[in-house]
Amino acid sequence: MDTAVDLRPCLIDVKGCRQAYHKDASADLVVLEDVNLTLREGEIVALLGRSGSGKSTLLRIVSGLLKPTAGNVTWRGRPVTGPTDGVAMVFQSFALFPWLTVQENVELGLEARGVPRTERERRAEAAIDMIGLGGFENAYPKELSGGMRQRVGLARALVVHPDLLLMDEPFSALDVLTAETLRTDLIDLWVDGRLPVKSVLMVTHNIEEAVLMCDRILVFSSNPGRVAHELRVPFPHPRNRLDKAFRQVVD
Ligand code: ADP
Ligand code: MG
Repeated sequence: MDTAVDLRPCLIDVKGCRQAYHKDASADLVVLEDVNLTLREGEIVALLGRSGSGKSTLLRIVSGLLKPTAGNVTWRGRPVTGPTDGVAMVFQSFALFPWLTVQENVELGLEARGVPRTERERRAEAAIDMIGLGGFENAYPKELSGGMRQRVGLARALVVHPDLLLMDEPFSALDVLTAETLRTDLIDLWVDGRLPVKSVLMVTHNIEEAVLMCDRILVFSSNPGRVAHELRVPFPHPRNRLDKAFRQVVD
């Protein structure tokens, strides 16, 4: 298996990346050193590592929001020079706008991409439905539970049909059962081919979650952060064998 050539198109390619943050006059904080990462279409990849090891920094680099101190990043073979259109992000703390409704929060990404209003409405409604929030279009974030807020965060990312979905500890602000339900819903969408993305890169602290959801697990070392190990989850993948009865237990 491992010797077979992988012909799936490469989305993101990070080569020899270094990131140093300015600390004080005498020293810089080197957060990432010689990070290499390739993501192909169709992959779900986990990034597992200690707090402060540079995982969020790497996601910012992958999304084009941060230019690394050194190294090369390409998207579909072209150098990344700014925010990449084909990438959308889900944040640990949801990052919703409290003064906007669910519908308005979800439409934001489309607005930024210049999608006309009627199409924005239609696509936002479809994304809200898909993620299980139908009927809550006019609610404000403060009226929703944590799990529902993160569903809004997911809908806002998914509505643009990104080639690459980045998720930065998407479930860690949620209680265990809410997290498990959302995880299972996402896995179902992916397995059914209904998740409108080509690939996923997710940061997590949860080893079980990484094994259940992902094809590859990149284990990050700290000080400085780099990909120290890579594990492949064997086929048949456990996400295809998930016991759907679980949902009946928690619902
Ligand atoms: P992780 O997501 O793995 O917890 P981060 O990428 O958030 O790690 O941060 C890695 C290190 O870089 C931490 O020590 C953090 O304090 C520092 N850091 C992150 N962003 C900045 C920044 N904008 N300026 C200075 N230091 C930063
Ligand atoms: Mg982080």
